[in-house]
Amino acid sequence: MKLDEHAVSAEDVKRDTVGMLVGNSFVGLIMTLLAFSGLVFFFDNQFEQVNTLKRQFWLAMVVVCSLRFTDSLYWKYSLSHTTYNPSPVFIRFSLGLYVTGTIWALYAITLHPTMGTVELAASMVVLAAMSGGAGTVLSPSIVLVSFYSTALLVPMSICALIDDNKQFFILGVLGFVFWAGIFISAFRYNRFFLQTVQIKANYSILREKMEHERIATEKVNRLLVETNEKLDASNANLENEVKKRTADIFRLSNRDALTNLLNRNGFLEHLNSLLDASNAIHNSLAIVFIDLDGFKQVNDSLGHKVGDIVLAEIAARLQKYSEKNHLARWGGDEFLAVIPYATVDTAKAVAHAMRSSVTVPIIASDNQITLDATIGIAMYPEHGETAVDLIQQADLTMYDQKRKQRGSVGVFSGALHEEIKREQHLCERLRSAISNGELTVYYQPIIDVKSDKVASVEALLRWQCDDESVSPVIFIPLAEKSGLMPEIGAWVLNRALIDLSHWHFTSHLRLSVNVSIAQLIDDNFLKILDSALEGCQLDVRRLCLEITESVFANNAELVTNRLIQLKDRNIKVSIDDFGTGYSSLHRLQSVPFDFIKIDRSFVQNTSEESDTIIRATLLMAREFGCKTIAEGIETEAQREHLAALGTDYLQGFYYAKPMSASNFITWYNENY
Ligand code: C2E
Ligand code: MG
Ligand code: MG
Repeated sequence: MKLDEHAVSAEDVKRDTVGMLVGNSFVGLIMTLLAFSGLVFFFDNQFEQVNTLKRQFWLAMVVVCSLRFTDSLYWKYSLSHTTYNPSPVFIRFSLGLYVTGTIWALYAITLHPTMGTVELAASMVVLAAMSGGAGTVLSPSIVLVSFYSTALLVPMSICALIDDNKQFFILGVLGFVFWAGIFISAFRYNRFFLQTVQIKANYSILREKMEHERIATEKVNRLLVETNEKLDASNANLENEVKKRTADIFRLSNRDALTNLLNRNGFLEHLNSLLDASNAIHNSLAIVFIDLDGFKQVNDSLGHKVGDIVLAEIAARLQKYSEKNHLARWGGDEFLAVIPYATVDTAKAVAHAMRSSVTVPIIASDNQITLDATIGIAMYPEHGETAVDLIQQADLTMYDQKRKQRGSVGVFSGALHEEIKREQHLCERLRSAISNGELTVYYQPIIDVKSDKVASVEALLRWQCDDESVSPVIFIPLAEKSGLMPEIGAWVLNRALIDLSHWHFTSHLRLSVNVSIAQLIDDNFLKILDSALEGCQLDVRRLCLEITESVFANNAELVTNRLIQLKDRNIKVSIDDFGTGYSSLHRLQSVPFDFIKIDRSFVQNTSEESDTIIRATLLMAREFGCKTIAEGIETEAQREHLAALGTDYLQGFYYAKPMSASNFITWYNENY
């Protein structure tokens, strides 16, 4: 809606006109009554009839003005505040005014001849004043102002003009002039009034528009507030979503999905913060490394599903002894716990309780499973100051404990630390042992019981590290762990084959070479073997490879395949330390072994039990078509006993200790 285009309605103009006319009428009516009363009662006429007529006029004027006054009061208090219909009010006001004007006109016409000069002049002045006032007050209505000023001034002025008294002529002229002046100003006032009405209308439009705008602004504001609220809500949602995602990401990167325990990442982070806190308040802390015993077999024999159920159950059991976020799944069947403020004794007590909880049988998919756990403990700050060090010490302790006694609890110690340091030192030295010429191969004869002759020699590795001769029992496992075994094994094989090919004094002698699991599963093993055999031009059938039973513990399939490949090459295979590891009849059946070596622990043990085992082994070997070798014969009695039992070959200090190649030649020549 455009302001300047707005046309004021007739109704609006009429209502404003009425408002102006009626609203300003109170003073006018009072003035009219006062002026009329003054003219009637001030100038007393000598004729009583005239006075009576005057009073009759006065009475009529009093009645009319009273009615009009009452009507104006009614308008002021009952209508003016409402949206009333202005027409009836206007008509009543106009009627009142017409009657008032008519009374004035009749009064002038009727009483003019009775008036003296002063009275006429006074009447003229009063009428002029009254019509002057009316000219302003009645200006909203041109009709009314025209009528009223005409009614008031024209009859009196005509009377004055035509009066015999020529003195009045000038009053009559002045009356007309005044009348004309009132007309002109009335028109101007009217125009001014209409403009005011227009401005007022515009103002009200403006107000209306402003009101519209205020309402629109309020609406927009409300919308904005609503939008903001929605935005806040969606922001809050988004925030929640971000929090949830962050928590998810944290969970994924810090939690183990199967057990919902912390994973390595999460545990390390948590442990670091616990270490910081412990460091700040000089408190101790224990790291408990738990490794399950027997879990691998569960996984292998019952499948991963059952394995998963078992792990989740173990996690739940261990959690009972650990605070939230103080327990982690470190690897496959390894768990780590941290116990803040712990002493060695409390850590051991918790570890024993944990172990006991693991040993309670688990029912998983209709299987009853019994496991155990080997546990290593490391203490902060005594055994290490960083998370990585402490975990490593606890791990090593567990590992060491596993070697000593599975299903037990051990605490990291200075001795273990020394042992580990020595192992590290040996590992370092072992790397350069071949190039430094520190390795030698010794030979121990194996005697044929029937002929009492040397049937074969076993090559046994020796390492002279500085002044110390390190036992293969120590360095072979180190070489396996550090990945040096394939290289060392290849060296032994080559050395022994070369030595054997140089021993021209005996062409029937067989050579037994020990082969470790790391060698056997190495991709290059067969290649190395073939090239070693090729280099020495020896009859392949003279070579026998000794493997321990334990090689089947892992990679059984690969090992079996390798052994079959060896058999395909006509290389003999011997199963070493028989009875100490885990072997199955099935294994003996599927791999065509040539020899079974009865471990010296049975040979040297005089118990019934050992004897039974030896007899059973001999029986089994015969069944499978294998020859038997008894290791560790140290005495004549042992020799006799094993020979009597029917062992095919004997080996031990009783005959000879392992000797260097040259010593072996000497020994051989002296004895055979
Ligand atoms: P093994 O293959 O069972 O070798 C027999 C071990 O028994 C040798 O110990 C030998 O010195 C010892 N021995 C033989 N007769 C007697 C006896 O009458 N009494 C006693 N007390 N001991 C006897 P050694 O040489 O210390 O070797 C230990 C083990 O180290 C071997 O056991 C073998 O498993 C491993 N080993 C040695 N050399 C090699 C090698 O070149 N390669 C691999 N992979 N392992 C090797
Ligand atoms: Mg051996
Ligand atoms: Mg052995």
